[in-house]
Amino acid sequence: MELNYLKPSQPTKEMVGGSRIHEKLKEAVYTKLDAEPVTYGDMLYKQAYENYMSLLSLREKGICRELKIYGSFNGYRISGQIDEIRIEDNKSMIVERKTVKDNKAPNPYTALLHQIQIMLYRKLLGDILEGLYTFDNFRNSYGIEKIRMSDQFALTLATIGVKEEFMGLTNIFRIMFREASSMQRLSDRLLISYMNRGDGKEATEVLIDYDRSFIDGKLAYAMGYWNGEREASPVTEEEKWKCNFCRFFRNECTVWSAGVSVGGGV
Ligand code: SF4
Repeated sequence: MELNYLKPSQPTKEMVGGSRIHEKLKEAVYTKLDAEPVTYGDMLYKQAYENYMSLLSLREKGICRELKIYGSFNGYRISGQIDEIRIEDNKSMIVERKTVKDNKAPNPYTALLHQIQIMLYRKLLGDILEGLYTFDNFRNSYGIEKIRMSDQFALTLATIGVKEEFMGLTNIFRIMFREASSMQRLSDRLLISYMNRGDGKEATEVLIDYDRSFIDGKLAYAMGYWNGEREASPVTEEEKWKCNFCRFFRNECTVWSAGVSVGGGV
């Protein structure tokens, strides 16, 4: 991760394929705001408005896709994008979609990353529903009252018929947070859906239980890095097969150079 920040790369074929599948699914239940953002403020507005529309879809149709969420942990801002929330047994269930090459679930190490990701979403959303992360926290953290939208964007909103009550950045986020915090209570069952990268069809599904102490432990470990208390760690010995697929292997990173056989893996 650190090396990726230091030496960013172009999106890979797999990433492009995965986001194409996401886009297709999103279009099925997503209301886009038909206005092109010019500034950062415009982009935030568009996000909040579309998020609000997604939350309405959850309330009315029992499903929403691509919901952006905000939160914090130990003073750090965290945001993410939940692939899907659906109502199951009167509870809001989080669904994370991943692509796989064939129809099998991924190896346990990759699956663990997916579990951490979906549990983190569950925690962030849980904080919003329990009032631990509110609109006021968001407003103070992002300073949205000081962020301006462009006149051009505001004019477009009026032209396409956005109602007066939804105008203004602070306003739309307040409305969005109110809607988010009133969704049906969260399920502790989390669904990871694996889709075939080739045809976009569902390959397999894995249901896991939310484990608060597990995700808190993972976050505490991650914070050690972000707080500067430890260096970034290389993969462990049992996971060093991953180095075969890493673009930094034997270049910027030589930690496991001596002990990795080409073509290894689990
Ligand atoms: S080569 Fe291996 S240890 Fe080094 S950054 Fe890549 S995956 Fe991590």
